[in-house]
Amino acid sequence: MSRPFERSSCDSLMSGLAALDAKTSSRLGIITVTYYLWTTFVAVIVGIIMVSIIHPGGAAQKQNIEESGKPIMSSADALLDLIRNMFPANLVEATFKQYRTKNIPIIKSNKAASESTTHRIIIYGVQDENGSNVQNFALDITPPPEVIYKSEPGTSDGMNVLGIVIFSATMGIMLGRMGNSGIPLVSFCQCLNESVMKIVAVAVWYFPFGIVFLIAGKILEMDDPTAIGKKLGFYAITVVCGLVVHGLFILPMMYFFITKKNPIVFIRGILQALLIALATSSSSATLPITFKCLLENNHVDRRIARFVLPVGATINMDGTALYEAVAAIFIAQVNNYELDFGQIITISITATAASIGAAGIPQAGLVTMVIVLTSVGLPTDDITLIIAVDWALDRFRTMINVLGDALAAGIMAHVCRKEFTKDGDEVPLICETK
Ligand code: ASP
Repeated sequence: MSRPFERSSCDSLMSGLAALDAKTSSRLGIITVTYYLWTTFVAVIVGIIMVSIIHPGGAAQKQNIEESGKPIMSSADALLDLIRNMFPANLVEATFKQYRTKNIPIIKSNKAASESTTHRIIIYGVQDENGSNVQNFALDITPPPEVIYKSEPGTSDGMNVLGIVIFSATMGIMLGRMGNSGIPLVSFCQCLNESVMKIVAVAVWYFPFGIVFLIAGKILEMDDPTAIGKKLGFYAITVVCGLVVHGLFILPMMYFFITKKNPIVFIRGILQALLIALATSSSSATLPITFKCLLENNHVDRRIARFVLPVGATINMDGTALYEAVAAIFIAQVNNYELDFGQIITISITATAASIGAAGIPQAGLVTMVIVLTSVGLPTDDITLIIAVDWALDRFRTMINVLGDALAAGIMAHVCRKEFTKDGDEVPLICETK
């Protein structure tokens, strides 16, 4: 079930980026896309910090070498795996294999051990009341042969999501730059994306049944179902806290520092759009209202809004990115899986990419989360754990997605005010492919 989702997200990422035609390479295009990527990445970092502080999945029982039987991979190895995975040697192989360093145990032979270590034997005896020895004991306290681990680059089963995401993004950007000659491949990708989405739409009708059984199965597997309910509550609180920090502090502060204008006044102007986002859980459905609010209440240049908002609705989803990072780390915590530094970086990159690939429709983030979980080898089945609270969290993250796009339009209107002082041709409305 997970494969069509993964492919569709990468196709969507490729065709979405390809839709940014050469015109968007103008100053406005470059600044907007850079700003969007930056704020999305900041949102992911906020999510990672929140989930690390609140730890909604419970205290991790760190597995060490003795307990797990496996050595813990060093940060350097994890980082090297990350780089190797980013640039796969074989794209077809990347759909079912990823690079993962193998730690091979090397046991020093007894001979080597006896040569390299000193045997220490303690002899002690038990004496009778006259002081003569009745029994002697010898205790050999020679250290056991040493086991050392040698790291070797290797592969393991599982899709190399990171490599495919990076390839899709690069391909999409290049196709966008090729102009008309890139259109056949872009159309093919869009067609593939749409047909897969149609298959998913049929499958979605069966979701409620599947979900009931999956959740029931999970509850039966649990030793203490109330404990997981509590963890889910903390998970929801973590996501909401992250969204509040990002939406009410970080984004308005960026707006204030760049424009020197009052963000509260700006946010008051788009309140209607935020409420529609809360009600519909869809940033695409909210788009016309966001546009109207920006023009009528905040007096943003129409040409800028026509460019910044549709691109934002396609690639800028701060709320979704933040939630995906929190959800992935929460699932790791629930499974007592300790993530290393390389895996945290992988989550931050894939959560950013997954949010770019998510459509502006209800619960699209839940679908693209498969990308994030697969990239670090977390169980995708555990998405069922968070489905119960997702309908509510979706509304809040959609509000932040819409807020991020609207504030970006305000910032771009300020930054590009010189180029847009005169009425001229409208920047073409682009990229409403999703
Ligand atoms: N519902 C969100 C939006 O429309 C996407 C998601 O995170 O599911 O922006």
